Amino acid sequence: TANPPLFHFDNSYARELEGFYVAWEGAQVPSPKLVLFNNRLAAELGLNSDELMGAEGAAIFAGTNSPEGASPLAQVYAGHQFGGFSPQLGDGRALLLGELVDREGIRRDIQLKGSGPTPFSRGGDGKAVIGPVLREYIMGEAMHALGIPTTRALAAVTTGETIFRDGPKPGAVLTRVAASHLRVGTFQFFAARGETDKVRQLADYAISRHDPDLMDAEDKYLNLFRRVVERQAHLIAHWVLVGFVHGVMNTDNTTISGETIDYGPCAFIDAYDPAAVFSSIDHGGRYAFGRQPVIAQWNLARLAEALLALIEPDDLDKAVTLAADELARFPEIYGQFWLSGMRSKLGLSKEAEGDQDLIEDLLNLMEDQAVDYTLFFRRLAETAEENEDEAAALFENTSAFVSWRDRWLNRLQSEGTDTAGLKDRMNAVNPIYIARNHMVEEALSAAEDGNYDQVERLLDLLSKPYEERPGFEAYALSAPEDFGPYQTFCGT
Ligand code: AMP
Ligand code: MG
Ligand code: MG
Repeated sequence: TANPPLFHFDNSYARELEGFYVAWEGAQVPSPKLVLFNNRLAAELGLNSDELMGAEGAAIFAGTNSPEGASPLAQVYAGHQFGGFSPQLGDGRALLLGELVDREGIRRDIQLKGSGPTPFSRGGDGKAVIGPVLREYIMGEAMHALGIPTTRALAAVTTGETIFRDGPKPGAVLTRVAASHLRVGTFQFFAARGETDKVRQLADYAISRHDPDLMDAEDKYLNLFRRVVERQAHLIAHWVLVGFVHGVMNTDNTTISGETIDYGPCAFIDAYDPAAVFSSIDHGGRYAFGRQPVIAQWNLARLAEALLALIEPDDLDKAVTLAADELARFPEIYGQFWLSGMRSKLGLSKEAEGDQDLIEDLLNLMEDQAVDYTLFFRRLAETAEENEDEAAALFENTSAFVSWRDRWLNRLQSEGTDTAGLKDRMNAVNPIYIARNHMVEEALSAAEDGNYDQVERLLDLLSKPYEERPGFEAYALSAPEDFGPYQTFCGT
């Protein structure tokens, strides 16, 4: 009797979008070994963990064996990278294995990253190494636990290969799960070639997958654009609220689904600083922490351009006006979401005039005095309840903070806040644990030596980021002085 298939694939991309990809296979590797597996996510996807955690699963997650029902393929896309247009990028080291419909009825891509070269590798080796694979795993799962839309990590395997980066490294493959891998750059690829029919086919596919309620709508392409603007505005506000710097907001890394994708050079800030840049190649600060909303809007302008011929086929001027009006809503959608998030972080439940000033004055103080962004809100919650000087101690110039604190306390009083529940309310929206750079680095370097304990501990801690755990005090603190400035890398 035949075993039931490991995955119940239903591959709409392969089926419906011929000409948008190249069917391809993963490279053979010497000895696939599963090093991390996400049991909870597997359950969401209706997968049998026990079966997948054996040798058969390791070979599948390394890309050497294609599971029954898969239709592995490399997607083609273009993209603006640091402002310059590359007409052809595509999956240079990734393969879409197929799609599953999860327990909630949501279609999700199962993709391998690091599974070998493809026709889109452009001189790259098509491989990934253990550090960056685990980094993507940790960062993505941390973001998910913070309630931020993101691709997920299902599995990490080592391949038994030695891959050269800045020295010999263990080869590895990440299995990534996404609402889809449609990007602004996917639309750009076909629009740049003047293939309007293909742009329309892609837009129809995107609508059926992400916005099925628009399928029969008039102006459905303009509506699709509006939805993407909304999703991206919310996503970037989420990032800024938690102090996340994506680091490589190219249009090929900007999703139609509104999920965070591509955890290459990303990092969390510790000291509050709108100019914070971690990526070794972002010399101009294009993707600095505080520039993320402006950049997202720029990326969405590129999507608008790609969709113009669909929005109003016979009247380009009108299409431009309509799309520009939608795009112009970005700052407001972003700003409202961010402001309401900041109010919650400060324990405020009502809207009042002057809130924006109150918040900006705080952020200016934090910036001037290089205060740890994440730690501050936890300490402020202490202050609220016990009237201690926990938060003040984070500032060198205490008096400037104390006068801001009095304004905040007055503002709380003005809405009749029940101070008894304030601390819990604030702690429920202000994480105590984020993926701090020095903690991540320490865990990754142990993993490079074959010890995964710290990675697992970190994943466990970050899976409940609001819950204070005794014995983990150090995980809530900024990097020690001797950690120095932090640098991250793309395409590793
Ligand atoms: P990223 O900056 O990570 O978004 O990647 C940009 C492009 O480079 C994508 O088309 C990737 O598939 C490709 N790429 C990144 N690393 C590699 C690699 N090691 N081998 C082949 N292609 C790569
Ligand atoms: Mg990318
Ligand atoms: Mg990348």
